[in-house]
Amino acid sequence: MARSDDGTWRSLEPAAEGASSQHTHECGSVPRISQDWSLQDLNHPLTCRLDCWWCGEEVYLHTDGSGPFTLFDNLSWPWPTHDCWHQQRDERDRALLKLESDLRAGGYQGQGRLVNLAPSSIPDAIPPKGRKNPPVLQIRLSSTDHQMVDRAVRQITQFVSDRQPRAPVAVPLPVGKKAAADERQGRTNGPPSRDESFSQHIHHRAIEMWTAGPKLVAQLGQVQLPEAVDVTVRQAKS
Ligand SMILES: [Zn+2]
Repeated sequence: MARSDDGTWRSLEPAAEGASSQHTHECGSVPRISQDWSLQDLNHPLTCRLDCWWCGEEVYLHTDGSGPFTLFDNLSWPWPTHDCWHQQRDERDRALLKLESDLRAGGYQGQGRLVNLAPSSIPDAIPPKGRKNPPVLQIRLSSTDHQMVDRAVRQITQFVSDRQPRAPVAVPLPVGKKAAADERQGRTNGPPSRDESFSQHIHHRAIEMWTAGPKLVAQLGQVQLPEAVDVTVRQAKS
């Protein structure tokens, strides 16, 4: 309460401003301190670093907020699912309830998206599901010319198949868009155009391998790929 200029006493609560003196306080209208969140019903992504409930290893629990959770070994490609998450399938719900009560005890109110993690350690996007048997190597091929991409895929697949027993697997990736202005940059003097009509489709394919030693990785440089194809090689952290 505070004394105003006209000598009457008025409530300082913003909600009571302009309210008549007959207006009674309704408990139902007071915002509650929310305890009614649950891990299954967050409606926003949550990533949490914790020690595995079963083996004690450091793992990362992630949900995109739509319900399902995944336990990752680490937060990077190839997004390996932690083994216990498969082995302890029947115990998952209990583990999540345990985490939920631990989070409550730690003061979590269902709002934050990161627990025990620095924002800088989080990649831009985390897939909703981990991979059960992730590859150790991925070669990603991209070009605006899909025939060139296909040719590069055939070349690498052939090269690898000649050198080791297990053939690599070619996987399609979603087609992306790239503004043509990006490619012309440096060749033109004008400012880069942002006109969507100049965008080109980029075709991506990936070749994945489950056995690939350093020797093979080094040899891959011998493959004479079409110039128009961009190549990115990703190796799983061992
Ligand atoms: Zn474990």
